[in-house]
Amino acid sequence: MRLLFMGPPGAGKGTQASTVAERYSIPAVSTGDIFRANVGQGTPLGIEAKRYMDAGEYVPDEVTNLMVRDRIAEPDAAGGFLLDGYPRTLAQVEELDSMIAATGHRLDAVVALIVDEEALVQRLLLRAQTEGRADDTEEVIRRRMELYAEQTAPLLEVYRDHGILIEVDGMGEVDEVTARIAAALEKVAQS
Ligand code: AMP
Repeated sequence: MRLLFMGPPGAGKGTQASTVAERYSIPAVSTGDIFRANVGQGTPLGIEAKRYMDAGEYVPDEVTNLMVRDRIAEPDAAGGFLLDGYPRTLAQVEELDSMIAATGHRLDAVVALIVDEEALVQRLLLRAQTEGRADDTEEVIRRRMELYAEQTAPLLEVYRDHGILIEVDGMGEVDEVTARIAAALEKVAQS
C-alpha cells in the first residue's frame, strides 16, 4: 500500500498513521519527525529546517522533496509506505507523483482526517503544555493553521479528482477514528 495521511495540524495524523502503518507492515514516514530528528542531531538539514519550523512556516520544497525522495528509496519502503505530513504544497504533489511513477507504482489512497478547527486549537495548546514543542506557541499554531488552509487543504481537491481521496471523521476517541480509517482502507485493499 502507498498511502498519504492529510489533515490540519493537531488532527491526530501521527497517531493514526503509526497504527495503520503497523497494520499494513509499511514504514510510516513523517516529514515533521525526520526534520525534528535532524534538528535534534544538529545536522545541516536540521539547522536549515529549524528556522522555518520555529516560525510555523513550511521548509522549502527543494529541501523537503529531496529528503522524501531519499527516504522512500530506502529498502524498507520498496513494498509501500505511508506518508504523514507530505505533500503539503502543489509542487510537492507533483514531485511525489513523479517519484512514485518512476517506480511503476501509484498511490492507493489519501486519507484526510476531517476535524473541527476549534477542537484542534485546544488539542494543540494541550500538546504544547505536555510536550513543549518549540513550534507549539499560540502564534505559531495560528500560522500553521493558516498555511494549512491556504496551501495544503486545496490539495485534497487534486486527490478527489484522482478518485483516491478518503475523508474520515477525525473527531472522537482515538480508537473510534482508527476503526473508521481501518474500515475505509479495507475497501481499498480489496479493490
Ligand atoms: P508536523 O510535525 O508534520 O506538523 O511538521 C512540523 C513542521 O515541519 C512543519 O510546521 C513544517 O515547518 C515542517 N514540515 C513538515 N513537513 C513538511 C512539508 N511536507 N513541507 C514543508 N515543511 C514541512
